Amino acid sequence: MSEENTRQEVALITGANKGIGRGVAEQLAALGMTVVIGARDPLRGEDAAAAVRAAGGDAHAVTLDVTDRATVRGAAQQLEDRFGRLDVLVNNAGISGSGQVSPQDAHDQVPGSVDLDMVRAVFETNVFGVISVTNAMLPLLRRSPAPRVVNVSSHAASLTLTSDLDGPFAALLPSAAYSPSKSALTALTVQYAKELRKDGILVNAVAPGFVDTDSNNHTGFLTVAQGAAVVVRLATLGADGPTGGFFSEEGPVPW
Ligand code: NAP
Repeated sequence: MSEENTRQEVALITGANKGIGRGVAEQLAALGMTVVIGARDPLRGEDAAAAVRAAGGDAHAVTLDVTDRATVRGAAQQLEDRFGRLDVLVNNAGISGSGQVSPQDAHDQVPGSVDLDMVRAVFETNVFGVISVTNAMLPLLRRSPAPRVVNVSSHAASLTLTSDLDGPFAALLPSAAYSPSKSALTALTVQYAKELRKDGILVNAVAPGFVDTDSNNHTGFLTVAQGAAVVVRLATLGADGPTGGFFSEEGPVPW
């Protein structure tokens, strides 16, 4: 990206070359934001940015693997050079850890027999990657008049829902990887919100619902646009909006 300043709000979405992240990028661009599409594959990132531009939006791609600190630093530097600030950070990039199997149906995540290397890989992306990206972007977020961070979590993060043996999630297989990684992400959301409240940075977690994407082998029943909607709502909160919360389209999600 070359040097340029803009008065438009600037949003960075990680893992935005496809799935929910791409849907969020499309919707934020349609609302008039400049969107920066984070993608670990630069070509697929550029393809997604070109599609958003073709639809009339202002979109750029940046190479960003949330587990690779060099690309995280590089992305922050490019945002600094081009925009000098960041208004919205959507920590969307995530992995299920189970290939093309939905984390809800993944026998390889059952705690008593799980592969610890898989658990580590899931936490590396879904949790440590979020800390890495957020901290790299904080100096830029602090320069925004209304900064917002949205962490894309999951209903599977909810200890209340997943421990209810009679509730709607009772049929989910026990998981030592995806579900605890998203619980850690919502916990982190609370801690970041606590720290950043005084700086006016709103930090919230969202559960997009069961969305038709590659991550669950297209078994989800919501469209990407429907799943992205709650993320967009939290990414466009007014300065008096909530912080440290966990929301779905239906409202607050129990912890
Ligand atoms: P998806 O279609 O598989 O998209 C995941 C995105 O994350 C892809 O762009 C992927 O890039 C990217 N990604 C993975 N690892 C990355 C890394 N190390 N660095 C940067 N980008 C990385 O899945 P999705 O369903 O849209 O998932 C998006 C988020 O929603 C995830 O956090 C997921 O856990 C969450 N979520 C999804 C559902 C659902 O029902 N779909 C439900 C609850 C929560 P590549 O294309 O390079 O792999």
